[in-house]
Amino acid sequence: MTIRIDIISLFPEMFQALTEQGVVSRAFKNALVDVVYWNPREFALNAYKTIDDKSYGGGPGMVMMAAPLAGAIRAAKARQTDLGAAPHVIYMSPQGGKLTQNWVNQTLNTVQKSHKPQGLIIICGRYEAIDERLFELGLIDEELSAGDVVVSGGELPAMLMLDALLRCVDGVLNDEKSAQQDSFSDGLLDCPHYTRPEIFEDLSVPDVLLSGNHARIARFRREQQLRVTQSKRPDLIEAASKQGLLSVADNQFLRKIN
Ligand code: SAH
Repeated sequence: MTIRIDIISLFPEMFQALTEQGVVSRAFKNALVDVVYWNPREFALNAYKTIDDKSYGGGPGMVMMAAPLAGAIRAAKARQTDLGAAPHVIYMSPQGGKLTQNWVNQTLNTVQKSHKPQGLIIICGRYEAIDERLFELGLIDEELSAGDVVVSGGELPAMLMLDALLRCVDGVLNDEKSAQQDSFSDGLLDCPHYTRPEIFEDLSVPDVLLSGNHARIARFRREQQLRVTQSKRPDLIEAASKQGLLSVADNQFLRKIN
């Protein structure tokens, strides 16, 4: 099923990094995703196509005006509705909930699997802020953050989110199982990986990986996942344990390395 995405941005060309290059570009080239860009400038009310103005109350920085963004959001919503999708409006913002693999999995599920497919409308802010009345009007359903850091525009955070989302769509990665093996998919970090040659600067690949014994390899990799996660992200081990994602053998191994 095609995923409908509308992106509201003053710099739509930036998205070429995603749509033209790398593995995720396949989603666009193979029409697994249908993307339309809306430039708020096209919805500006004056002849100069002004989209920003000074902040009431003073202070540095410009604010994106309500009218051009409201116009763009409403046009995007109308397109989604015409296509039979229920639009969900996301404002990329450092004040939002954090982008996580869990968010990606849940969102992809709603976008693809609900009885009425959901379309995503993504607003990329610029300058100091967007006019608060866009929230007061109920035009924004969700705020989403790339992390506790401020960047100059919502385009890079939006690309980060879209890359994470689209690489999980069937037919985008070469091997469907690849995304399931990545960090976070089973609550743990990924295990270490090795490729040819077998010996590099006197360091050899762990024997078990060359053994061809699939069960032993799976157990070894699981233990490496536990080891890596315990040392880099002990909080994830705790969460996995609470969710009942660790087996008896997992717990035995953890006790051994502790
Ligand atoms: N004054 C605002 C930040 C504005 S940064 C504040 O302190 O909350 C300009 C734009 O960049 C924002 O409108 C937002 O769309 C985007 N942006 C900045 N940091 C972001 C982040 N961590 N995640 C998502 N979007 C971000």
